[in-house]
Amino acid sequence: MENPAVEDDDGDGPRREKPPMDAPDRIETEIAVIGAGLMGSATAWELARRGHAVTLIEAYDVGHRRGSSHGTSRIYRRAYADPEYVRLTGLSGELWRELENDTGTALLRVTGGVDLGAGRDPEGLARLLAEAGVPHELLSPGAAAERWPFMSFEGPVLHHPEAGTVDADATVAAAVNRAAELGAQVITGVRFTGAEPLPDGRVRLRTEGPEVTAATVVVAAGPWLPELAGPLGVPVGLPPLRVTQQQVFHFLSHDPEARWPVFVHTDGPQIYGLPSGGDGGSLPAVKVAQHDFGKPVTATTRDGVVDPASRDVVTSHVRRWLPGLAPTPLTEASCLYTITPDEDFVLDRVGPFVIVSPCSGHGAKFAPLIGRMTADLALGHTGPHPRFALRRFT
Ligand SMILES: Cc1cc2nc3c(=O)[nH]c(=O)nc-3n(C[C@H](O)[C@H](O)[C@H](O)COP(=O)(O)OP(=O)(O)OC[C@H]3O[C@@H](n4cnc5c(N)ncnc54)[C@H](O)[C@@H]3O)c2cc1C
Repeated sequence: MENPAVEDDDGDGPRREKPPMDAPDRIETEIAVIGAGLMGSATAWELARRGHAVTLIEAYDVGHRRGSSHGTSRIYRRAYADPEYVRLTGLSGELWRELENDTGTALLRVTGGVDLGAGRDPEGLARLLAEAGVPHELLSPGAAAERWPFMSFEGPVLHHPEAGTVDADATVAAAVNRAAELGAQVITGVRFTGAEPLPDGRVRLRTEGPEVTAATVVVAAGPWLPELAGPLGVPVGLPPLRVTQQQVFHFLSHDPEARWPVFVHTDGPQIYGLPSGGDGGSLPAVKVAQHDFGKPVTATTRDGVVDPASRDVVTSHVRRWLPGLAPTPLTEASCLYTITPDEDFVLDRVGPFVIVSPCSGHGAKFAPLIGRMTADLALGHTGPHPRFALRRFT
């Protein structure tokens, strides 16, 4: 591909905001949240709306592009090959609407979703959706091609109308702003550098700015989590977390009126796609990417360079299966996955620390639900969801 406009801004040096001049040297708070990606911002919003004192600490600016939560598009879907995740997507869907209502911001756009390819098992997914009472239909390839003439189909196609996209950038901004309106203290451009337990059970946090003392500390540091545990005094035994640099590509839709669904197509590589939103430029575009291909990196040392091998796989997929798209990417970007061994999330409490690592490449759709679950853990209202508990790794 020639001279794509690369969205990733790595290599430009850190875009760090200076702490405000009038920031206090010391902050006493009930709950400190480290990290203002989708998970930390949703947690801060949930805690603030319940009336708790929250301090949100973010190393960069809100909405930066170095972690996992930047960009205008993530898939929200109900189709999972696991009944528990089907259930959780339903709970999360309700909370997306609450977040939208509370912030006055449209975040979840319903487009419908299609699942196809032998590796995706559309019929098996349909059975699970039927058991959960989620509306869906199984279509022949011909019927699917009539409905979405800009795509090609082979084999059975699952359609479920509740799927859509969530705008990650807008979500982070809306949740942080609303949390601040509700009284949360938001400190940006300030890195957490270490934790020290105090005799009274609280924790003193060292940062590049104020010293923060908190009863509970939520660590929602995304791909930086492996670097924070242990060395920085967060005494938590983590499972081996694999951080990978992923890449996404945006392709122009030939027909600006085409109503693209989100899709997951597994026939060899695991390919997904969704309307790009603003990331695709001013004309309607579709983001297409390969879920199962990423270079192992660390959040600190990743290079932000899009892998040409993945670009080839995705471009070939577009040529073969998506005739409604111009087959040369308009733009591309990189992003980080943090992957657990079983691809379930980590969401658990160890003493005063709540560890939040819901990625494995599929966490965004759960952001408001993770915010709620994290708040419940932080406030001691519940134990961990068994699927997300750290003890499953011991
Ligand atoms: C390419 C890509 C596509 C995806 N597509 C989908 C999808 O279609 N559907 C879906 O459901 N999910 C998807 N996901 C997953 C989803 O985006 C992630 O689950 C989610 O963004 C994780 O958010 P997070 O808050 O845990 O991490 P992050 O967004 O990385 O946030 C962590 C924050 O912590 C901050 N931080 C780290 N260390 C410190 C420190 N020492 N001090 C202060 N702050 C610190 C960082 O600066 C960062 O802002 C995708 C992910 C990627 C990368």
